[in-house]
Amino acid sequence: MNERWTEFIEEVTKVCKGTDILTSPEDCLIYSHGCYPREYKWLLQGKYPYISKAVLVPENEQEISEIVQLARKNQIHIIPYGGGSGIVGGSIPYNGEIIIDVKRLKDFSINVVNGTARGGAGLTGAEFENLLNEHGYTCGQYPQSFQSATLGGMTVTRAIGTFSTKYGKMDDMVTGMSVVLPDGQIYQSHAAPKRSTGPELNQIFLGSEGVYGVITSVEMKIYPIAETRIFQAYTFPSTHDGLNAIRSFMHKGLRPAVVRLYDEVEATHKIAQYGFEKGFTLLILVFEGCKEMTELEAKLTKEICLANYGRDKGEKSAVEWLESRFSTKKMLDYDAIKGGTADAIEVAAPWDCIETVWREMRKALEPLCEVVDCHFSHVYHNGASVYVIFHAKTNGDDKDGEQRYLDCLDLAIRTSLKYGGNVSHHHGVGTAKAEYLKEEHGEAGVYVMKALKDSLDPDGIINKGVLGL
Ligand SMILES: Cc1cc2nc3c(=O)[nH]c(=O)nc-3n(C[C@H](O)[C@H](O)[C@H](O)COP(=O)(O)OP(=O)(O)OC[C@H]3O[C@@H](n4cnc5c(N)ncnc54)[C@H](O)[C@@H]3O)c2cc1C
Repeated sequence: MNERWTEFIEEVTKVCKGTDILTSPEDCLIYSHGCYPREYKWLLQGKYPYISKAVLVPENEQEISEIVQLARKNQIHIIPYGGGSGIVGGSIPYNGEIIIDVKRLKDFSINVVNGTARGGAGLTGAEFENLLNEHGYTCGQYPQSFQSATLGGMTVTRAIGTFSTKYGKMDDMVTGMSVVLPDGQIYQSHAAPKRSTGPELNQIFLGSEGVYGVITSVEMKIYPIAETRIFQAYTFPSTHDGLNAIRSFMHKGLRPAVVRLYDEVEATHKIAQYGFEKGFTLLILVFEGCKEMTELEAKLTKEICLANYGRDKGEKSAVEWLESRFSTKKMLDYDAIKGGTADAIEVAAPWDCIETVWREMRKALEPLCEVVDCHFSHVYHNGASVYVIFHAKTNGDDKDGEQRYLDCLDLAIRTSLKYGGNVSHHHGVGTAKAEYLKEEHGEAGVYVMKALKDSLDPDGIINKGVLGL
């Protein structure tokens, strides 16, 4: 961070009258970490190594534009910040960067004629959904971090929720946005439902993790709250059989809202809890929508599951999953152990190699971990994602826990890439996974991303280092 940051703050104070400026050590510390497991380890190790010099909380989009222009003029590096629930080190102020918290951007409007609603980038997923529910609508986006992740943060990480098979992911849900570019210009996408007017610019900002600008508002598709919900659960003799059933109903065009297949190990606890067959896998399905369509979809899906060696287990385990779906307690417990660590590495692969990716990632991580849990919870016409959740203990100190984390992360991603999987399905790249991007996109792909960055933000003012840019 250069020495002009005090002048920068003085100018912001003059120009942006509504912006709150936080500089107390406590405020700066709170904003200086997200939920990347290494950040948690650094907190436990004593003096936190990377502290922001100041946190700015602007009142509106115009102030963000002014701040970005002043940052560029003074060569001050900035980091946009939403809910702080990012888990890939995308908001670490390695050089004391100034944090721009967008959480005061909370405007909301609904357009039931178009089937869309617009929210300020600072609304959390839960706040946006509650506002929609008051009007009888939903957007269907329920990530596990629903209470903290913001519309802006979810857009730039291409986040996904548990009802993704019906409602899609942020990349399908977002219909429009406003973005403050690194030179202060404001890009506002057109409201037309489809265009043939050059590349789809919204898609450049979706997944951009803040490197191409600050998202200030997002327009999302909305749906009337479902008339009915149907729960189903099946056990299968193997992960292979469960995946075959899922692939088969996806290829037929059936779209349960929730599809979650727990492999033989992750299913063990639930299998014991409900007294199902030992050694089997467990598939949970939730259907929702109009009554007649949902009933038909559930009936046809059931036929396919039974034809693929699935055993019908009623609805109890699926209903209970819904009730506990936001809990992440086990992972946090491992992170809190001195030499312990945990994370969920989520990758995706086409159907013809997802099973190998799952098996090899599990095999690679098992020697380093106490527990490796795997499930498939986002599925597509041409493939699926797998969550590989590792819990490790080293009997050492927090530094050993941190090193074990890095070893597991590296092994998991390299194994995924080796067997046809990718680097990340929805958590993003941040700084944690940046070194692997070339293996997914190739030299040419990274060149395109870098060329965009260099022309939009030649001085690297926003989110320097994120996505390796
Ligand atoms: C317990 C837990 C469960 C989770 N479950 C899920 C899940 O189910 N699905 C899922 O997809 N993810 C999940 N995540 C990851 C995380 O919630 C998502 O990545 C989320 O989209 C981050 O949003 P945020 O508002 O918290 O962003 P932040 O953490 O504040 O920021 C993340 C990145 O986005 C940038 N950024 C933030 N806001 C803006 C903006 N307005 N404009 C430009 N750049 C911005 C930041 O600079 C940073 O690089 C989980 C995380 C945790 C801790």
